[in-house]
Amino acid sequence: MAKNIVVLAGDGIGPEIMASGLAVLQAASEKSQYSFTFEHHAFGGAGIDAYGDPLPKETLAACQKADAILLGAIGGPKWEQAEKTPEAGLLALRKALHLYANIRPVKVPDALLDCSPIKSEIVKGTDLVVVRELTSGIYFGEPRQLAADFAVDTNRYHEDEIRRIIHQAFQIARSRRKKVLSVDKANVLATSKLWRKIAEEVAKEYPDCTLAHQYVDSAAMKIVQQPTSFDVIVTENLFGDILSDEASVLPGTLGVLPSASHSISGISLYEPIHGSAPDIAGKNIANPVSMILSIVLMLRQSFDYQELADQIEQACFAVMAEGVLTPDLNGTATTEEFTQAVIAKLEE
Ligand code: ATP
Ligand code: MG
Repeated sequence: MAKNIVVLAGDGIGPEIMASGLAVLQAASEKSQYSFTFEHHAFGGAGIDAYGDPLPKETLAACQKADAILLGAIGGPKWEQAEKTPEAGLLALRKALHLYANIRPVKVPDALLDCSPIKSEIVKGTDLVVVRELTSGIYFGEPRQLAADFAVDTNRYHEDEIRRIIHQAFQIARSRRKKVLSVDKANVLATSKLWRKIAEEVAKEYPDCTLAHQYVDSAAMKIVQQPTSFDVIVTENLFGDILSDEASVLPGTLGVLPSASHSISGISLYEPIHGSAPDIAGKNIANPVSMILSIVLMLRQSFDYQELADQIEQACFAVMAEGVLTPDLNGTATTEEFTQAVIAKLEE
């Protein structure tokens, strides 16, 4: 049966890179046994323009029934003063769907070695995944208070919240090099001590994988010194926020980085890690690789269509290796030219 994909193209470069990603998926799937239906809905600034709401009711209802959700990007100067901003719509969607696990793979294909701000002998072969807990920890813990002369934040984790994110990490590790690194600050924080204990317990269910622990300060250094030493990094909300942004520097552009967010109910949302890039919107120069690789993640993690995912990813990397690059990678290809090159590569 065809998989029902809800498409939220959004704002800025969102619609451009979404069109690219869907064209690539369409071309790849036509030669496969798999099929997809695409249901487009207004979201973010586009939702405000059409319905006065960044997360219109129809959009949320469609998302809740979808097999997976693809999101382009949202926001932009036009809606900064809106009563409900596009970003508020995204937070509301994440909350409504209980998206608790944020997955950010960072790969540096050889074609991009010269673009990285880090020496190529260090980044060459980088292929890691940051698995970040998204709905708990210090961003949500109570009490929180801001007074004139003191402030309080609370880092709180329940063992169930730790357990489910560690399971995510091991399941992803199983389809990779089977190495999980749990990052914490267990020499100082009680939450980290519990985190470590639960990680050890969960690891027993995955005897085919290894588990190691590292303090967040030392992991932060190692990500830029020895990025190839990592496979799957799993960590709490705050540390994951910081480490995933740090890791996104490795390929030298935001334009090639996808993400997945998984929920308790099983529905997942896939989107580039970057924003709507209003500075380049409408110019046909956005790098669509972040969107194409978000679709690759969807095929792997929601549908287990590994072969189709591999075909698209390999075509995308092969095209970059041939020097077809968008301007963020110092190339001259337009979004459409890059897209057509990937489709042509799929047909070879
Ligand atoms: P947000 O607050 O929504 O995360 P931001 O202010 O962090 O947005 P982005 O929209 O992520 O900014 O863009 C940051 C920079 O990276 C911009 O200069 C943008 O043009 C560039 N950029 C982001 N995505 C792409 C892409 N897919 N292709 C090319 N350049 C991109
Ligand atoms: Mg940003």
